[in-house]
Amino acid sequence: MRLRRTTHLTLGSLAALVAVLGCTVMGSAPNTQGQGDWIDVHVHLFADKGALADFEEAARKALQIMDAERIRTMLVMSPPRAREGPDIESLAELTKQYGPRLAMLGGGGTLNPMLQDSGKSPEVSEGVRRQFEETAERIIASGAKGFGEITAHHLSLAPGHAYAAVAPDHPLLRLLADIAARHDVPIDLHLDPVPSDSATPASLGAAQNPPVLQANIEGFERLLAHNRKTKIVWAHAGSDPLGSFTPQLVRALLERHANLALSIRPASPRPGAMVHATGDVNEEWVAVLRDFPDRFVLGSDTMIVATHYTGPHTPRLFAHRGEGQWRGIRRLLSVLHPDLARRIGYENAERLYKLGR
Ligand SMILES: [Zn+2]
Repeated sequence: MRLRRTTHLTLGSLAALVAVLGCTVMGSAPNTQGQGDWIDVHVHLFADKGALADFEEAARKALQIMDAERIRTMLVMSPPRAREGPDIESLAELTKQYGPRLAMLGGGGTLNPMLQDSGKSPEVSEGVRRQFEETAERIIASGAKGFGEITAHHLSLAPGHAYAAVAPDHPLLRLLADIAARHDVPIDLHLDPVPSDSATPASLGAAQNPPVLQANIEGFERLLAHNRKTKIVWAHAGSDPLGSFTPQLVRALLERHANLALSIRPASPRPGAMVHATGDVNEEWVAVLRDFPDRFVLGSDTMIVATHYTGPHTPRLFAHRGEGQWRGIRRLLSVLHPDLARRIGYENAERLYKLGR
């Protein structure tokens, strides 16, 4: 009892001392600086190809959200398109205008369609390889902080929302891994995990998914092992449509692959979510974050749609989901130790994507 009391008193006086020093020397108490701030590494702006004024409108909305949500930087990128579409043309202009608060990734509207086209066969012609590599080099030369959003498995969640699947260690993905390693930039990869071949759940059957989903984790591990200098940011940890993106799977892969990082999209109504609709935070997930504090960043997957956008309807359908993710991210950051919240909130993202440089 005595010992506990003494410890308590000592800690109490230390806290008082820190508070005084904090006010006089630093101007604010330590641990509160930047607490709750974060960087969003996964945001999509939607406007028609080349419609710069519409992209600017979306960028202004993004800046308003950043001010309201304490987001220091947003990484904007094309979603992983099935067909060639807007990629970095307008985003490169926006990041010149609004950088460093806005930064971009590239390839979702150019490299990903080439990958999906070639995905049907394991062989890739020399011409396609060359075109793919030239496009990737151009993206980095335009100021992209990495490649994204690229997909090896993307479930369809609504009619008109495309299903996509290629071997996760397809030759073009291995080539992209080598290019990324050469420039020391990450790849943002959407891979809805399927641990073993399984029937598509009835809840996803009405969309454009095939009846059977092919196992893809072994292929993903081969991609991670292909070039250990390639940093792959596996997107959407904490909320996947199948419920297979579990803390157990993530822990096992983080242990085996030092070049793997993950971006967190925490909120989902499904079991296994990192942050439930009730605000409850999944303890198993938090334990993985604590054990791998340098390997996670935050990516809300927010979709910001310009008023005059004329493309497919799905971005508008999903546009309201951002708010739930921002709430989930605020909730997650509030339950983490301040040191961990700072790392996952923004320090890891600054290091991984070399932001502000
Ligand atoms: Zn995605």
